[in-house]
Amino acid sequence: MLNEEKPLNFIEEIIEEDLLAGKHDGRVLTRFPPEPNGYLHIGHAKSICLNFGLGERFNGKTNLRFDDTNPATEDTEYVDSIKQDIQWLGFKWAEECYTSDYFDTLYNFAEDLISKELAYVDDSTAEEIAAAKGTPTTPGTPTPHRSRSVEENLTLFREMRAGKYKDGEKVLRAKIDLANPNMHLRDPLLYRIKHAHHHRTADKWCIYPMYDFAHGQSDSIENITHSICTLEFIPHRPLYDWCIEKLEIFPSKQYEFARLNMTYTVMSKRKLLQLVNEGFVESWNDPRMPTISGLRRRGYTPSSIRTFCDKIGVQKRENMIDVSLLEFCIREDLNKTALRRMAVLDPVKLIITNYPEGQVEQLEGENNPEEENGGGTRTIPFSRELWIERDDFMEEAPKKFFRLGPGLAVRLKHAYIVKCHDFIKDATGKVTEIHCEYFPDSKSGEDTSGIKVKGTIHWVSCAHAKEATIKLYDRLFNDENPAAAEDFKSSINPESLKTIETAYIEPDLASAQPETGYQFIRLGYFCLDSKSSSDKLIFNRTVTLRDSWAKTVNKG
Ligand code: ATP
Ligand code: MG
Repeated sequence: MLNEEKPLNFIEEIIEEDLLAGKHDGRVLTRFPPEPNGYLHIGHAKSICLNFGLGERFNGKTNLRFDDTNPATEDTEYVDSIKQDIQWLGFKWAEECYTSDYFDTLYNFAEDLISKELAYVDDSTAEEIAAAKGTPTTPGTPTPHRSRSVEENLTLFREMRAGKYKDGEKVLRAKIDLANPNMHLRDPLLYRIKHAHHHRTADKWCIYPMYDFAHGQSDSIENITHSICTLEFIPHRPLYDWCIEKLEIFPSKQYEFARLNMTYTVMSKRKLLQLVNEGFVESWNDPRMPTISGLRRRGYTPSSIRTFCDKIGVQKRENMIDVSLLEFCIREDLNKTALRRMAVLDPVKLIITNYPEGQVEQLEGENNPEEENGGGTRTIPFSRELWIERDDFMEEAPKKFFRLGPGLAVRLKHAYIVKCHDFIKDATGKVTEIHCEYFPDSKSGEDTSGIKVKGTIHWVSCAHAKEATIKLYDRLFNDENPAAAEDFKSSINPESLKTIETAYIEPDLASAQPETGYQFIRLGYFCLDSKSSSDKLIFNRTVTLRDSWAKTVNKG
């Protein structure tokens, strides 16, 4: 029955039991139900991996359902991005569904409830309804409209649909139990009037079903067997079951799991939208955003996100996951796959005074030492003048500085050993040139010089290097749990983006493609930004080579 041998999470255990009991003839159908009012984030990835994972594991299927009952905030831009993100993560849905396609059916369901004396039209204002609902410890009181006849309710509800009333003038409510300890059962709203243009049904409707009257019924219409949602919907479950029971429709069942919370970020579309609208980030796919599209642009791979979701598992209790686990997953992934290249972010010139002027050597560098045969090689031009990192040179180097300084020698990666004999400073004291000599018999791979050096540094040839803009990202918030603060934006990290306008990169990188991971040797993992162009190359740092952040925090 199972596709793979992995321990079962608690939802898988439930499904396993259902299958053993012969429920639904062994059929498993789940759904992922985003509201198209924003881009998907890493929390949604957890839900996607869970729902589609169940489909895959139990030879079942998963529908993609757009929960589009709120015309004011929804848009086709979001629909498109959601589809793209799910596909990118590597999942295939069985059916593409829209709650709005069920509006006629849902409307008929509502009339059915009215006919069964289980729903009524209420003219009370939102405030009046709230006041009459009571409190969890005191029962509510009926509004004057609760005793309307079936005929009157049908007439009024049809008039609501026909557009006779203004927004908020009337609502349709279920007639359940005004004393129920579960407030969701105290005659919940089923339909509201909203004269708004819908991105799919246009102006056909001016009444829209509430979540609680749309979600379970949509599950049922699609014959969903296991409807998985997050913990905050536990109190809605009795209403979910009530509607299905009273309407006598397919008995979908709801199960709840803990949503993903992650440190140093926010995970609600409403808050993410604010970050975009108020210009704290460039867009929904800003590489600092926890959105799938932001992570993609940042250089995260689908497999790193799926591995992360696998590692965090599925729990019944709220918890907070450390973002460094996500970073760990991409590091592990890119270490295996990223092409190794050289780039110099803070350049200073190194001149090899005994290297012939005008001479160029094409050296070989392996693409990835983690792969068999180094993953093939690329050629790297080498010449007399090179860019190296400014912090690989110290005028007065301490003892354990195994890089360059007067009298010190290092290996240039894939090339020769060089020894510094001089340097030049400008009027401000800034080093502008480092002069070295090289040892012609110390070439990497064929070194017969017998010289031993402890350090190896990266470089690019001045005459051959390409220029690139480099974007270094840090966490978007300084606070571990920004959403807990009164104003989540108060802990935005003003240094979450550092731009290096001109860095020098290996010429081979001019043909880099977005979504291909590179390790810039000694610097981190990088990828071409999707906004890069051939006249302005832009690279994003996906993640550093090591978890440098944990260290600074500990030090502080
Ligand atoms: P948000 O609060 O970010 O707007 P939402 O729950 O309103 O999220 P939906 O589009 O309704 O967003 O969510 C689609 C599915 O994704 C739902 O089943 C929801 O439970 C799930 N989901 C949303 N956020 C998370 C999260 N942080 N962790 C796990 N699942 C989530
Ligand atoms: Mg929602």
